[in-house]
Amino acid sequence: MIPERFRAARRSLVFPWKTLFAPRLDFMSDNDSAGAFSPRYHRVILKLSGESLAHAGERGISMDEVTAIASQIKSAHALGCQIAVVVGGGNILRGAQFKGSSGEKIQEATAHYMGMLATVINALALQDALESIGIATRVMSAIKMDGVAEPFIRRRAIRHLEKGRIVILAAGTGAPFVTTDTCAANRGLELDADIVLKATRVDGVYSDDPEKNPHAILYRELDYDTVIEKNLKIMDSTAIAQCRTHKLPILVFNFKKEGNIVRAVSGQKVGTRISPRIHPGEQILVNAH
Ligand code: UDP
Repeated sequence: MIPERFRAARRSLVFPWKTLFAPRLDFMSDNDSAGAFSPRYHRVILKLSGESLAHAGERGISMDEVTAIASQIKSAHALGCQIAVVVGGGNILRGAQFKGSSGEKIQEATAHYMGMLATVINALALQDALESIGIATRVMSAIKMDGVAEPFIRRRAIRHLEKGRIVILAAGTGAPFVTTDTCAANRGLELDADIVLKATRVDGVYSDDPEKNPHAILYRELDYDTVIEKNLKIMDSTAIAQCRTHKLPILVFNFKKEGNIVRAVSGQKVGTRISPRIHPGEQILVNAH
C-alpha cells in the first residue's frame, strides 16, 4: 500500500515536496501549541452531526456553536489540509423519527428526504459562518438545488479542494434510508480522502458507557472487526462496512475540546482511530475515570 504522505504528495498540485517532507507529528503531546503543527492528512472528510451545530440537548441551530466549529475548521485549514465537511441534519429532523408515529401519512422515504433537506439548512449556516471569517467555501448538494448550492460532482469537488476551498457536502448521498455517516464514508472514498474524522461530544470510543460504568476504557486504536464484533456505536454499520472494505481509517474524537480538529488533522494522538491494523499494546488508553 502507498504510504499516506506519498498519496498526499501525488495529489498536491502546488509544492508537493512540502507534503512529502512534512514532519511526522504522531509523537507530539496533546499540549503542544497548534501553531507548531503541520497536517499529517492532506485531505480529510470531517463528519459533523447536526447536533454539533446546536447547544447540547437542544434542537435547531446555535450560531455560537456554528461559529466555534467554523473557527476550528479555519485553523485546521490554515495548516494546508484540504477539508470536505459532511453535515448531518439530526438537530432539525431525522427520517427515522416519523416511523410509526405519523400514521404512515408521511412515507418513510419522504421522511428521509426531509432529513436530507435539513442537512442543506445546516450546510448553509456553516457556509456563512466560514465565509464570515474569510474562508472560501462551496456547498455541494446531492439533491439538485440550483438556487442555493452546486450539484455534487466528484471532479469538481476535488478541484475546489485543490484550490483551497472548503467543500460542504449537503443532502447526504441523495438517497433515502441511509445516514450522513454513510455519506461521509462514500465521499471519503470518492474524494480519495486519507481519513474520515468523526466529530463527537465524547473523547472517543469506550468499551462501555463511561457515564454508567466507571471501569469503561477509552480505546486509542481499534480495528474494524473489533468495532463490528463488539457492536461499538461509532457510525452506522453501512459506513463502517464501507470503510473496512476500502481500508479508509476513521478517527472518532471530541470536537468540543478547543483545538482538537487541528490535533486530528495533525495526526496527534487524540480520540480513537479505527483502521485495518492496530499496533499491539496501543489499543487501550485509559480508564474513563
Ligand atoms: N438521510 C438520508 N440519506 C442520506 C443522508 C441522510 O436519507 O444519504 C436522512 C436520514 O433520514 C437521516 C437524516 O437525513 O436521519 C439526517 O441525517 P443524519 O441522521 O445522518 O444526521 P446526524 O445524525 O448526523 O445529525
